[in-house]
Amino acid sequence: MRRLLLVLVAIVALLPAAAGAAKKIQVVTTIPDLADMTRQIGGDLVDVTSIATGVEDIHAVQMKPKFAVMLNRTDVVVLMGLEAEHAFLPALIDASRNPKIRREAPGYIDASVYVPVLEVPTRLDRSLGDQHPMGNPHINLDPVRGKSMVRAIADGLARNFPEHTATFQRNAAAYTKELDAAIVRWQQEAAPLKGKKVVSYHPDLIYLTERFGMENFGTIEQRPGIDPTPAHVADLIERMRQAKVEIVVRERHYPAGLAETIAKSTGAKLVELPAMAGGVPEATTYIGLIDYNVRMLVKAVTGS
Ligand SMILES: [Zn+2]
Repeated sequence: MRRLLLVLVAIVALLPAAAGAAKKIQVVTTIPDLADMTRQIGGDLVDVTSIATGVEDIHAVQMKPKFAVMLNRTDVVVLMGLEAEHAFLPALIDASRNPKIRREAPGYIDASVYVPVLEVPTRLDRSLGDQHPMGNPHINLDPVRGKSMVRAIADGLARNFPEHTATFQRNAAAYTKELDAAIVRWQQEAAPLKGKKVVSYHPDLIYLTERFGMENFGTIEQRPGIDPTPAHVADLIERMRQAKVEIVVRERHYPAGLAETIAKSTGAKLVELPAMAGGVPEATTYIGLIDYNVRMLVKAVTGS
């Protein structure tokens, strides 16, 4: 890890100073969901690149030298926040040597600032390997919270480029309207999901399940980022059978075998879902992601 950081710093030090002022506002986002939102808001004014492609575990995105280079040249960085990107973003920002995007700088755009956060711990303690020290950071899977993220990005861009505030606000309003219409549709489509109990691999579905009236029954992981023990799995299976849990979700970046075994031995349906846009070829946009997840869950319950 330390060696990689030294390499990153060395590469960035060798970069030539940016030649002239780039025409477009340069934006780096951590995940494709944020890239899509930022393009909706920034339109022709922005040039957006995402670090993750959507198939990764947000808590374990692998650092690459090119990410430090991207961050070195960017005007702003847009992130989920709530320490979701703890495994890679702070080190990459350090290595980028770009004062505009340091945590306390205006170019550090945290998309979670207006979002109501669930599972906020009463004390901060990483000793158990907790990946969620600030509360549950998987806010992107709830489209209503997605609207708050859009507002945070629009305000963040306006803070850095006040001359374009009207454009950002107009575009954000149009996209929010689009999201509002989709949310009405998703609520109707998700009617069969009401009251259904769900087990997921990692506790990243809570905002999605809460939005559509499902019940989070438990996780295959013992705690966020802590692998299950055989005793935990046995206990989970027993409790799932008693409670007649109908759905097991494997987020696609987690191992398949165990989720499959648990679904089989409890009679639950196994559903494989992406945790970000880009996680499956059918879900390249943020709206496409929610569309896909709602459709797959409904299909598991209704069989169609
Ligand atoms: Zn997590």
